[in-house]
Amino acid sequence: MMRRGFLISKKAQEPEVTTIKRANSREEPIRLALEKPGSWPTNVLATNSNCVQFISLLKVTKRSSSLSTGGATTPDGPTHIVTTLPPLNNNEPNTQCLLLQGTKQVILSTPGFPKPLPPPPASPAFRLGPSPGKGMGLFSTRQIKQGEIILWERPLLIMASGIPIAFPASFSEAQRAQHALNDLEFYMETAVSRMKPDRRAAFMGLHNCHKKDGSGPLMGRVRTNGISPASQTKTEVDVKMADHSVVSEHISRLNHSCSPNTQPRFDFATFAHQLYAVRDIAEGEELTLQYVDILVNKTERAENLKPYAVVCTCTACTENPRESDKRRSAIASFMPSVPVWAVNRQLSDDWLIKKSLQILEFIEKEKVEHVAMYNNATATVMDAYICLGDRQNASKWAAKVMIRHRWAEEYKRVEEFLDPDSPAYVQHPLWRLRVDENPTNAKGAMYKLMAEACGPGGVSTMSNGMGLFTFAQGQEIPPETLKKVLAMVKQGK
Ligand SMILES: [Zn+2]
Repeated sequence: MMRRGFLISKKAQEPEVTTIKRANSREEPIRLALEKPGSWPTNVLATNSNCVQFISLLKVTKRSSSLSTGGATTPDGPTHIVTTLPPLNNNEPNTQCLLLQGTKQVILSTPGFPKPLPPPPASPAFRLGPSPGKGMGLFSTRQIKQGEIILWERPLLIMASGIPIAFPASFSEAQRAQHALNDLEFYMETAVSRMKPDRRAAFMGLHNCHKKDGSGPLMGRVRTNGISPASQTKTEVDVKMADHSVVSEHISRLNHSCSPNTQPRFDFATFAHQLYAVRDIAEGEELTLQYVDILVNKTERAENLKPYAVVCTCTACTENPRESDKRRSAIASFMPSVPVWAVNRQLSDDWLIKKSLQILEFIEKEKVEHVAMYNNATATVMDAYICLGDRQNASKWAAKVMIRHRWAEEYKRVEEFLDPDSPAYVQHPLWRLRVDENPTNAKGAMYKLMAEACGPGGVSTMSNGMGLFTFAQGQEIPPETLKKVLAMVKQGK
């Protein structure tokens, strides 16, 4: 899920902001003063699995999860650095980054980094313009096809979450909130002062909806415009960067919709966001993004949008929201398991395909093609046809996955299934799993054994109390893990 970055719900007074000049060196360590090491080295930023959030500053918690991803609070030495990435001396724009120590090394070790940005198109596919009731927004300048990259953009600024900030024990909650915002504003001043003049002007030109809650002018802009760079957590850099806030000149201008027509994806090799069209977009249409999880119901969305000062008037929020909520809930709770269906003879041969098609219909009706389930349900149909040994239909659905997996959280290798005569079919672990009594390949046999052990619900509890879950289709399981699981199955059943 792509969500907006920083949020603070705490209301406080408009602060006095002091500008502190700093020397522009290539890299500036930040020494975080901890007045009482050990007693108040506390994160004000906490994280959950999907997004970065300022937990309400009222709740100053010491959560180990946020310590591990966000701010290590060593009493000695700097915990964070301000640095410029990529370290290129060409004409490409670069990004000012406030990173946890060590994160930069992980970024530098990304395969291909630093890859130059592709040359910009002769005429951009978008333009900036006024959006009624929403300030400024981005609009398409031509027809855009589903799966196209509308924009490839290197951010102005990336900021880590979990920056440790210490408070004297005597501080009230309101004082802590303000103190944290003042400190963060100071770090932002360091980063923004290092920007080239045109980049700084672009940053200052961004909207700030946090003018009256104690945020300084820079943190206000970060909180209004930041989005999270990574939604998948497959590589070390994805994990390290998941809880960061990325501010960009153009992508940050996208307005919210509960039926967005774009989805950004951060490419670490070029160190840039790619903005995908998730369905066909007409000329002149406003380009939109989801700021919050849009699969929850209308009431919850409205609540989650409050910190962005957004009152959504999209179709899902205004026209028959109860029906829309039902469809969205069905999309969110769909958990297809191909092997479980494949071995369950009580279910019909087309059961999983029908279920998946229904979900795809809901997704297109709700216009939420940016969600991961769009690709997952499409891939499920392809996999179901592979289980049935139907190469013709499987290859047709592989072509759809080829487009829909571009912005999805889960990549799926499907190129080799585009050709119905491809030898890759018989090597696929799901090949004819539904039709053959005994699968022809070893992996298929294991899938079958596991799916049978798990039963039709896809979940089984072993006699030792351990839960055994069927894995998602397409997930690569190391052979050792499979062996272990099979041993458990034999023991438990
Ligand atoms: Zn809406």
